[in-house]
Amino acid sequence: MFAPEDVKKALEKAQHLVVFTGAGVSAESGVPTFRDALTGLWENFDPEALATPEAFAENPDFVWGWYEWRRKLLLEVQPNPAHIAIAELAKRVPKFTLITQNVDDLHERAGSTDVLHLHGSLFTPRCFDCGRSYEFTQAPTLTKEQRITPPQCEHCSGNIRPGVVWFGESLPEAEFKAAFEAVQSCDLLLSVGTSGMVYPAAQLPEIAAQNNATVVHINPQKMSAITRHGYSLQGAAGEILPLLI
Ligand SMILES: [Zn+2]
Repeated sequence: MFAPEDVKKALEKAQHLVVFTGAGVSAESGVPTFRDALTGLWENFDPEALATPEAFAENPDFVWGWYEWRRKLLLEVQPNPAHIAIAELAKRVPKFTLITQNVDDLHERAGSTDVLHLHGSLFTPRCFDCGRSYEFTQAPTLTKEQRITPPQCEHCSGNIRPGVVWFGESLPEAEFKAAFEAVQSCDLLLSVGTSGMVYPAAQLPEIAAQNNATVVHINPQKMSAITRHGYSLQGAAGEILPLLI
């Protein structure tokens, strides 16, 4: 496990660095994946029965309870060396964009700002009816019945919903547009902890490569399809990224 000289050189002369992160980065902090979170009280539920606008409209207490439980799990873990290295990289290049598929706040807690959350965030709840944002004022309090009545919007009394993108919903437009523009104009993209199989995850590094950016995949698994200006560094993000700095 090492950082090849070519990657270090690309980093040294990078004018616009894009870092694109996926579930692997959160997993190194011990964040359970979406499906892994369906343990204990939740294990008999189909995620699609919990993570849709229809499910929330029908049974808000039940769905909100599940998201509050996930928020509680997240508050118990800490950013890892990968999150910290990414926040540090931002200070070392003229222009920096961080795009993530993760719905946790570990990048922010490591010091990153202006994070583009393509799948929304568990920490940006909003009104189900009018869309106005809502701010958490307290830590999640869980009940035995797993049901928690969502807070009410102070403008329209609608239920507050999680800020994540649910099945059947489109990606947040502003974030996706900004991400798209960034990968078109960057000269170096680090794709970290993402298997790159799911749209649009697969597409963003591809667009960067098409625009002649150097693309570096950092993953426990070896990436098979590597383009001309591409590299694959195999290993834990929390070990490789600090080496690049
Ligand atoms: Zn409202």
